[in-house]
Amino acid sequence: MRIVLISTPIGFLGSGKGGGVELTLNSLVSGLISLGHSVEVVAPKNSKLHESNVKAKLHFVEGEDQISWQHQDFNSPVSIPDNSLLAGMLEKGLDIAKHADVLLNLSYDWLPIWMTLNFEIPIAHIISMGSESSVINNIISKVYAIHPNNFAFHSKMQANDYPFIKEPTIIGNGFNLDNYIFQDSVKGPLGWVGRVAPEKGLEDAVYVANELGEKLKVWGFIEDEEYASKIEKSFPLGAIDWMGYLSTDELQKELGKCRGLLNTPKWNEAYGNVIVEALACGVPVIAYKRGGPSEIIQHGQTGYLADPDDKKNMLFYVEIIEKIKRQKCREWVEKNASADIFANKVVNWLNKVIKEYK
Ligand code: UDP
Repeated sequence: MRIVLISTPIGFLGSGKGGGVELTLNSLVSGLISLGHSVEVVAPKNSKLHESNVKAKLHFVEGEDQISWQHQDFNSPVSIPDNSLLAGMLEKGLDIAKHADVLLNLSYDWLPIWMTLNFEIPIAHIISMGSESSVINNIISKVYAIHPNNFAFHSKMQANDYPFIKEPTIIGNGFNLDNYIFQDSVKGPLGWVGRVAPEKGLEDAVYVANELGEKLKVWGFIEDEEYASKIEKSFPLGAIDWMGYLSTDELQKELGKCRGLLNTPKWNEAYGNVIVEALACGVPVIAYKRGGPSEIIQHGQTGYLADPDDKKNMLFYVEIIEKIKRQKCREWVEKNASADIFANKVVNWLNKVIKEYK
């Protein structure tokens, strides 16, 4: 299959601004290549693919970023800036896709979804977020009525956010397991990984570590400086150990030393890459029981699911984290979320999409 991917209209691949999509794209590309498919990626200038993805051709586009939907009101209209990066990526992607089988969109935006109605080329969408915008919901609903196969979701909980989706295609997510080394660090610190932004609920994780008299190690791109400093001020000095945004290789080395990862989203997380990355290193995860994390974590086997927003319940589970066998965490990822498993699901789905257009 010849596949053209476009992503992400925020930041560049490797900047961290695009969140989990950046890693998802990389593992998808490597999974597709290892299955023998041809892949071209259209991405913002300065983007880098993982070094194992040299076989994928990368095309660069320059332009203005989209505003992230996480930080707009649910009822905001779509805004497209002058010299739009998204529009530029679509133009280039559609041009290249004339000689390909499918254009695969990994961006949560109105324009590529609307274009599905107006092109002969199949445009397929991996929806990366739950319902964050009424205008996006409505365009998904409209296109879904005509091309129901063209949408895939990472988890059932995410798809449930879109009540008009009757039989969602669930593809999970995938991780290049060679990039994650198992570590048996049962006595390590507690960690937290993610974009530092209100929907990620970092304050709850700091609370838990602080109650235990521990520093919390925090990795990730600080998207909202004001939010980060507000949290810092509401806890004793030094309660957070800011570790910065690291490459996957550096991150997994550090993350693997933790005895547990705390995952505290306040929104309906579509999937939760960082959970699987921790599990791949043998690190059990304690998360709130909502969204994608509640489908990934096997309660009592690979971590624990605490009652949503109940910090004390999370604390309770952190205190018994040593009951989890770290090897089981790694095994779950190998059996359920490798890059190859993911790529196979995506290929099966894309075959269905393409068939409709023949
Ligand atoms: N991440 C990273 N380096 C860091 C911290 C985070 O590469 O120091 C990546 C991590 O690998 C994950 C992404 O940031 O892929 C966060 O994705 P997630 O699905 O957890 O949340 P999102 O940001 O998409 O809401």
